[in-house]
Amino acid sequence: MRTIPILMYHSVADQVDARYKTWAVTPSRFASQMAALSENGYSVFGISTILRRLDAGLPLPQKFVALTFDDGLQDFLIGAFPILEENRFQATLYVVAGRVASSSNWLATLGEGDRPMLRVEEIRDLHFNGIEIGAHSLTHPELDLLNRKACEREIRDSRLVLEDMIGARVSTFAYPHGYASPTTRQLVHEAGYASAVRVRHALSHASENRYGLSRLIVTQKHDPEGLIALLEGKGIPTAPPQDRLAGTCWRIARRIRNRLKPPLTGDGPFMPAGGRI
Ligand SMILES: [Zn+2]
Repeated sequence: MRTIPILMYHSVADQVDARYKTWAVTPSRFASQMAALSENGYSVFGISTILRRLDAGLPLPQKFVALTFDDGLQDFLIGAFPILEENRFQATLYVVAGRVASSSNWLATLGEGDRPMLRVEEIRDLHFNGIEIGAHSLTHPELDLLNRKACEREIRDSRLVLEDMIGARVSTFAYPHGYASPTTRQLVHEAGYASAVRVRHALSHASENRYGLSRLIVTQKHDPEGLIALLEGKGIPTAPPQDRLAGTCWRIARRIRNRLKPPLTGDGPFMPAGGRI
């Protein structure tokens, strides 16, 4: 079975709140990670390029990896994009469509509610410079806790907003907080996306469900050797079987938590310390 390593990043910046550190790497660490990919002969793509090649039966390089960045934070432009460009690497950027040119208000509990988001013209420029733009909802809610109509709107309208922005098709979606249920997966399919990614911290593979692709979490702790070990699957499962029971229990726990104020932060199945994002 051919594995597909899909790496997940969020912020690439030097200064972040201590509570958000799990989700940030510094530009210098990011540069050393990208250098490791280059030196070890990896070809680097956005998600849809890999899936299209698989579907068309076209060959893929012996070593390849997909890079993904969630949220559409402005620090992508400063901390990550120049390094990607220098290495001629592609990537997919999942943008919270309703927060463009605003701030990351959903990160307030992690001390990063005022982090600036990319502006329209910056997203357009990134698209024209080979960065795939994917959708990441309108407002970054826990989709599986919304009613169907609200959920549909988040999934469908984020795509429409971004397509209007870049003048091109948006074909991939990232579940906010990584939360996906059978219903949200179905809605993403019906909205016309070709794929969707979650978190899971596992290697994906060619026959994994296209609407629940597993990703690997890359952190500041991954030095070049650690990153290559991750890609080689050392200590990492390959797309484990569906965790329906664990997922359902965790969803019920979050419903209860959301009725209690203030909200508790906690980790669901397969998540590292540091809370959900
Ligand atoms: Zn996110």
